Amino acid sequence: MATDNNRFQAIISHCKEYGFIFQSSEIYDGLSAVYDYGQWGSELKKNIRDYWWKSMTQMHENIVGIDAAIFMHPTTWKASGHVDNFSDPMIDNKDSKKRYRVDHLLEAKADELEKEGKKAEADALLATMDKLLAANDYEGLKKLIEDANIKCAISGTKNWTEVRQFNLMFSTQLGSVSEEASEIYLRPETAQGIFVNFLNVQKTGRMKIPFGIAQTGKAFRNEIVARQFIFRMREFEQMEMQFFIRPGSQKEWYDYWKEERMKWHLSLGIPKEKFRFHDHVKLAHYADAACDIEYEFPIGFKELEGIHSRTDFDLRNHQEYSKKKIQYFDAEINQNYIPYVVETSVGLDRTIMMVLSEAYTEEDLSTPEKQDSRVVLKIPPKLAPIKLAVLPLVKKDGLPEIAREIMDNCKSHFRCFYEEKDTIGKRYRRMDAIGTPFCITIDKQTKEDGTVTIRHRDSMQQDRIPASQVRELVSKYLV
Ligand code: ATP
Repeated sequence: MATDNNRFQAIISHCKEYGFIFQSSEIYDGLSAVYDYGQWGSELKKNIRDYWWKSMTQMHENIVGIDAAIFMHPTTWKASGHVDNFSDPMIDNKDSKKRYRVDHLLEAKADELEKEGKKAEADALLATMDKLLAANDYEGLKKLIEDANIKCAISGTKNWTEVRQFNLMFSTQLGSVSEEASEIYLRPETAQGIFVNFLNVQKTGRMKIPFGIAQTGKAFRNEIVARQFIFRMREFEQMEMQFFIRPGSQKEWYDYWKEERMKWHLSLGIPKEKFRFHDHVKLAHYADAACDIEYEFPIGFKELEGIHSRTDFDLRNHQEYSKKKIQYFDAEINQNYIPYVVETSVGLDRTIMMVLSEAYTEEDLSTPEKQDSRVVLKIPPKLAPIKLAVLPLVKKDGLPEIAREIMDNCKSHFRCFYEEKDTIGKRYRRMDAIGTPFCITIDKQTKEDGTVTIRHRDSMQQDRIPASQVRELVSKYLV
């Protein structure tokens, strides 16, 4: 069985081998920190996105969704603070010319210390880092890196530059003629599309505070350290929700959304111990309280979702920069105000990485007579790319025809997969490897009594049930 780092590598290989995730532009040797989702990865991604969307919008009557454009007026990013503040302290190694994010270097060192059993030292390092980051003390951060004896992974030296800030936004030109062109950015977060549409949605939807606007979509960041598979990508997808509230009620709603979002993660069947909250010491330029929900990935506890109490920072600034009044009249208290916002922001790709990390299982099935093993993805049925595999035992005797009938009866209800090639054992293993929760086999007996064998992925238990009950049984697991 794989150790954690081996396990991480095994998951990455599995994702490639079974059509979940490929390196982008692989035939040209790939593009760093950019990935493509294959046939099963894109189904999984869609199912997770839909599950989030449903739980946010359909299950919360006061939340609606939108789909804003990736390109936005450049002033948006002045108002949001991203032009001036969306940067991270970086440091370069002079020998390898490799650039690192300062917090990532120090966090990696702390992980190393923890693995060596020096937990107190690791905690002290992180506490000092938090303090220095909060004070924007770049000299102090450089000294901390030197004192912690951190070396560049490539050159192996400690020959560091000064710590400097680098903006993470990608820019491009709008317009074809260079004199007419203006610089615009690829959005680094989806949230601003919600803020600039606040009045549109509030007025046309006749929304009353408290209410939320949800959105899923691509975001782009020129990440410097980008070596952790889909954990840190340059193009990724966020699922965000901005909840607009009365000023003064932010603490109550912040606590509410912390709990609500944790419940959502637990609803994926992941044990409680795999999650923890991490409160931010250095608050972003827009926040009066913020925390992360961290999940224990095979690469350690890392941020999965951010929950931020953003005050009225964004709406106030958009009001100032656009010179359009962005206010809400609260009839209950007979007052006009700029609403406060509590935001929940989770990475779709990181959620996929969590689901895959949790699901990936290597099982030893050896008996005294025979060595055997399998790799199975124990993905919750509601998220699995394929729900049901329909497998005629042999390619003759009218079995494919019966199987086709079952396919036709089920495929408009959930994703099914038909296969008649290879032995049934091999077909089961292939379905295990992509996480299909149910397989049914059509055999000679089916012709006699109309029953099929249903095989459960996790237990491998097989039961005989009437073919007419298959659709209902599978559907029960998908809510
Ligand atoms: P980190 O500290 O890991 O860079 P962040 O605090 O900058 O993350 P936020 O701005 O709060 O992240 O974004 C919200 C969510 O978007 C994160 O919790 C994460 O799940 C996801 N996310 C952010 N950056 C990336 C990335 N480069 N690749 C994949 N997902 C990301």
